[in-house]
Amino acid sequence: MVGPVIFDTIKRYLRYSGYDVTWVVNITDVDDKLIAKSRERNLPMSQIACEMTADYLSNLRELGVNQIDYLPRATDHMPQIISFIKALEEKDYAYAVDGDVFFDVAKDSNYGQLSNRSMESQQGEGGEAAAKKRSPGDFALWKSSKGDSIAWDSPWGPGRPGWHIECSAMSHEILGNTFDIHGGGLDLMFPHHENELAQSGCCHDAPMVKYWMHNGLMRAGEKGKIGGKSDREESTEEASAGKISRSKGDGGLSTVIRRHTGERIRFFLLRTHYRSTIVYNEDGLQEAGTSLEAFYRFFDRFNEITSLQESTQYPGQYFYDLPLGTCRTQGEFSPGEDSLLQEMHAAREKFLTSMDDDFNTGAAISVLFDSLRALNRHIDQHGLGPAAELDSPAVVSLIKAASVIRELTSVLGIFLKPALSGSGGDEADTDLLDGVVNLLINLRKEARERKDYATGDAIRDRLTELGVALLDKKEGTSWERSP
Ligand SMILES: [Zn+2]
Repeated sequence: MVGPVIFDTIKRYLRYSGYDVTWVVNITDVDDKLIAKSRERNLPMSQIACEMTADYLSNLRELGVNQIDYLPRATDHMPQIISFIKALEEKDYAYAVDGDVFFDVAKDSNYGQLSNRSMESQQGEGGEAAAKKRSPGDFALWKSSKGDSIAWDSPWGPGRPGWHIECSAMSHEILGNTFDIHGGGLDLMFPHHENELAQSGCCHDAPMVKYWMHNGLMRAGEKGKIGGKSDREESTEEASAGKISRSKGDGGLSTVIRRHTGERIRFFLLRTHYRSTIVYNEDGLQEAGTSLEAFYRFFDRFNEITSLQESTQYPGQYFYDLPLGTCRTQGEFSPGEDSLLQEMHAAREKFLTSMDDDFNTGAAISVLFDSLRALNRHIDQHGLGPAAELDSPAVVSLIKAASVIRELTSVLGIFLKPALSGSGGDEADTDLLDGVVNLLINLRKEARERKDYATGDAIRDRLTELGVALLDKKEGTSWERSP
């Protein structure tokens, strides 16, 4: 969960800075844990993987993560995985033993370069596979099936791929031999990323990645926990790097989102630099909520001053109608003599400098707080309220200054649309919201039953505008917050 929010923000910022970015998130939908789970629940593995992926994606939506371009699944890439392993075998980087195939780490003189490990410190997993390996650090590329139903045909007999090769094959398929940035949680650096790097580098005679970005992990603070230690125990990659992440159940991510809203969690995560450990506790999230409140209150003030009047300069006067920050050069402006705009101009520079410095979102956010104070001061000093003249210099510079906030916050992926509940959802709010939406769903149903489709559609359209999507299914209508 930390990873997707961070990389979503990084992609937004890179695009805003003029880069063309393709973001791939691998879904490793076949591994030991999924197989164990499928046995435990007596359901096909594919079904479990599907459920988990759907759940994962719905959490991402709530967190405002919508920049992913490709979500490849390992099970859709078996031919690519198999030919990848074959190529490694032909180049003598891999060897087969009784239907298993291993990567020979001794053949790769660069092995250990990412995590700075020496050959001597390599510890492979024990068990049956250990006896077949040439050296303990060798890792499985292909695992022979032991009478398992989950198996694919291969030149080495029926089996399934190792986890590391799934990632290498999928990223190669979409991004080619070398790509710019590989992200992931710090806990994946070894062995997962080290092994990906070795396989891909040896297979393609080219460096796999130009930059590695490892995000810090989340640590539970004194009160409460998030996303679950159990997640990480179940699958290290999932919980931290944003693969399939189980989130249901007490303390799970969806519960936390329900209680706090995705925006609050996103804001909370971005206040820490992505390489640092995030200490999660309830107090921290509450504090993030209080900070967001200050922004929401300003947006209300702004709307009150500007929304009631027609303006030729800006098409919409609500904060959320101001233009988003699509491009860095477009947002440049000269502040002239106006002191608020001079302040905003300097703040914008500072914000961008922070983001340019290894995506320091924490420093960037503190700049936003300074700007917020300047904006409120401006409103107070000029006594601006609903009766203010829209063309007066004080309001014109307020609108310009607010559009800078709009530009910068949209780059962070926050304040993209009005918060559904201003107070950012504690349990009581969530229940209230649930009740109100269900009431509207029933009214719509009744309207449709008496063939008053216009009212039915109006209810749905208005809810859509408010960010509530209705899902009509056979068993009835449900709802979700739309991205
Ligand atoms: Zn991976």
